[in-house]
Amino acid sequence: MNLRNILLASSCAAIAGPAIADVNIYTTRQPFLIEPVMEAFTAETGIAVNLSFVEDGIVERLRAEGDRSPADLVMTVDIANLKQIVDAGVVQPVESEVLNAAIPAELRSDENLWFALTSRARVIYASNERVADGEVTTYEDLTDEKWAGRICSRSGLNNYSLALLSAVIAHKGEDGAREWAAGLRENLARKPEGNDRAQVRAIWAGECDISLTNTYYMGAMLADSEQQEWANSVRIIFPTFEDGGTHINVSGIAMTNAAPNREEALQLMEFLVSPTAQQIYAEANYEYPVLEGAELSELVASWGEFTPDTVDLNELAGHRPAAVRIMEEVNFDG
Ligand code: FE
Repeated sequence: MNLRNILLASSCAAIAGPAIADVNIYTTRQPFLIEPVMEAFTAETGIAVNLSFVEDGIVERLRAEGDRSPADLVMTVDIANLKQIVDAGVVQPVESEVLNAAIPAELRSDENLWFALTSRARVIYASNERVADGEVTTYEDLTDEKWAGRICSRSGLNNYSLALLSAVIAHKGEDGAREWAAGLRENLARKPEGNDRAQVRAIWAGECDISLTNTYYMGAMLADSEQQEWANSVRIIFPTFEDGGTHINVSGIAMTNAAPNREEALQLMEFLVSPTAQQIYAEANYEYPVLEGAELSELVASWGEFTPDTVDLNELAGHRPAAVRIMEEVNFDG
């Protein structure tokens, strides 16, 4: 009996027997961030969830496994990664009124291929000591010469930077975005280096006064005894575009082509947009639920309210190649 037969035999047994199939998930998110919401699902339905943490190369793995993949679902972060999975052709459309009702149209694939579960905003972290209230309120402000030598940023070619620049393209076109990226680069305190938290650490160390950083890192830093002081040296400011809101990105989910346990996987997807699940999942990650009215954690709520930009993530994903080109043209990392 070859492997294919064994898999067929075992799935037949699962259908014939009284046991319900498990749901298998490949995820780039650390399992401890996902486990609480999966436990809630299992408690409600009796369906077990197996998480496989795949740090890199989900697409390659799904391609290699093809129809025999044990994975039903993929969970990852950032529209760039969701788009990559879609472009590789390894996921299938999911028609669900529940998902469509819970998730705003701009936060799910227009072909039903991926669905956002939570969002995060890319905001300004400002020094409590050196930045006064009202000094910076828009993304456009970041190119003002008063910030010369005072801004820290990670690489312009990082997904987070590229998604933000893609949003700038959506608002201002490519020429406007080039001008913005060049202006931001002009104001950098140092060459882009390190991750989001390293920028906040640099503010704490006095190397710069503001940074572009995702919201959830405030929660992550406060939960880390070493990084707490970095977090306490700054506050979050929600900038907006002059003609829009605050830039957000998402974590999301998609169903694989193989999906051996399609029914249960769909049940899990729909559970994940229920009010309870939204609250549990967002809270574990210091993120924002996508379901309107789902409750925020106290900490996340304490950062203040904001109006998310409504640029469609489908459009945003399409601007990525231009964003890469512009970052290179302005030599952002140089
Ligand atoms: Fe991150």
